[in-house]
Amino acid sequence: MITKSSLDALKDQIDIIDVISNSIEIRKAGANFKACCPFHGEDTPSFVISPTKQIYHCFGCGVGGDAIKFVQEYDKLNFQEAVEKIADDMNFTLEYESNTTHTDYKATMETINSFYEANLVDKKLQYLLDRGITKESIKTFEIGYAPRSDVQVQLLKDNYLNLNDAIEAGVLAQDKENIYARLRERITFPIRNHANKLIGFGGRTLRQSEGIAKYLNSPDTKLFNKSRNLYGFNLAKEHIYKKGTMVVTEGYLDVVMMHQANIKTAVATMGTALTQQHIPIIKKCNCRVLLCYDGDNAGKTAAHRAAVLLSQHEVDGGVIIFEDNLDPADMVKDGKIEQLYEMLKNPMPLIEYVLRHIIKDYDLDNPHNKNQALSACISYLKTINLLVAEEYKGVLSKLLNIASHHITLGQTTIKKDFTIQSSKTVSKADEKFFKTIIEKPDYLDLLFGNLDYEVYENNTVFEDILSGKNNSDAIRPLLIRDDIVIYNKEDFIRACKLKQKSYLSEKLKQLSTSLDDDVFEQMDKVQKRLNEIG
Ligand SMILES: [Zn+2]
Repeated sequence: MITKSSLDALKDQIDIIDVISNSIEIRKAGANFKACCPFHGEDTPSFVISPTKQIYHCFGCGVGGDAIKFVQEYDKLNFQEAVEKIADDMNFTLEYESNTTHTDYKATMETINSFYEANLVDKKLQYLLDRGITKESIKTFEIGYAPRSDVQVQLLKDNYLNLNDAIEAGVLAQDKENIYARLRERITFPIRNHANKLIGFGGRTLRQSEGIAKYLNSPDTKLFNKSRNLYGFNLAKEHIYKKGTMVVTEGYLDVVMMHQANIKTAVATMGTALTQQHIPIIKKCNCRVLLCYDGDNAGKTAAHRAAVLLSQHEVDGGVIIFEDNLDPADMVKDGKIEQLYEMLKNPMPLIEYVLRHIIKDYDLDNPHNKNQALSACISYLKTINLLVAEEYKGVLSKLLNIASHHITLGQTTIKKDFTIQSSKTVSKADEKFFKTIIEKPDYLDLLFGNLDYEVYENNTVFEDILSGKNNSDAIRPLLIRDDIVIYNKEDFIRACKLKQKSYLSEKLKQLSTSLDDDVFEQMDKVQKRLNEIG
């Protein structure tokens, strides 16, 4: 168990905006932030995050809570795991009750990584040196070598490390009979996240035989998700912030060699193309993105997809395609660094790249095909920011050799903004009333001085306020809305009195149809109270 004082100290430092923006793309909207809810499918953002209240709430599906709750739900972790993940990301050291144990992947990962590093000798080391990688780069990137499986398992045992932890961390795997190392006889590239935590490994085989994957990554684990992380980001991030540029490549060696050539903003996707899940990390850097991809068909298609994705998320940048079997790593090795710099200086803008990629499949000499190409390009342009799209009409008219007045974008297909609907169960007047007592609990005294308890008896919001459940499903939507202006003291008292008046008037009406014996007596009492309010 994590100690309470340690948990409280962490909670004091957590920033919900920081935590959530690690996982989904969010944008500022007034005092709050908005996003498309990751828990139910939607195109218009109804997921609201409040930095002042440190809570989130979805007006579409009703989910909500604090930063820890979000990580629990989004990453499907239990409470302790979520707290540990947040702490890791913040480089916060948690303290544990002395009589409890907790899984420590760090010891496993770091031990095996050091072991891999120590095993990079002889022919394996020579292989890297022959590829032009310097000893300094090997050290910086902690490149190592994973030996035979049994040697690795023995090492973990010798260090009294729990083999199950190693399985969960993706270092080992298990079938019916055996426990074995996932990476065997491969060059290893440790993968660290933005907080420099070791989360996985990439492994490259030195064998030339068919049927063996050249590269192998750690599987997705509690620590590692290859679609959300970028290789080299831990080393590149400061440079990315400083330069406002991120260079995205396709491989470990490209990153290592680019850094060696002083292109320290280079990172790589791992075994997948750039995905939607990479967008938050890119948005957080607030940088332009240069995509460096292979000149083969797979590379060009991947570049196209990535350029579409980035442009739709309003990320600026460009594409650099390496034709003729060139790749960034080889260019550095072969001393073509100046040429590489030139290429990086002259990328093709993302949107132009997408348009050209769409058009290349059409025969522009055929008017019918040309018209289809135009439609396809317009469909794409309609999915990006309208102002930016307008700027590309000129480029498109040149590419298709048509007059630009033929290109009409009209309405973009980007959806309108979500507007928060008032709750169906709470009236507008009550929303304001409740929000006031949530924000100013000391007004409760004023409330009870002016209002009968029965007025709000059995009202869920009210009951939750009274029992101090300030983060309940009923209260959260009111708490997070910044469009409700709360009462000042005088207005609040006036509102209480009005409420009380209408309550008593209603009571009077009901009594007038009552058949009770003492009905007149009762009505008299109520009337007196009404008169007192004035
Ligand atoms: Zn939702």
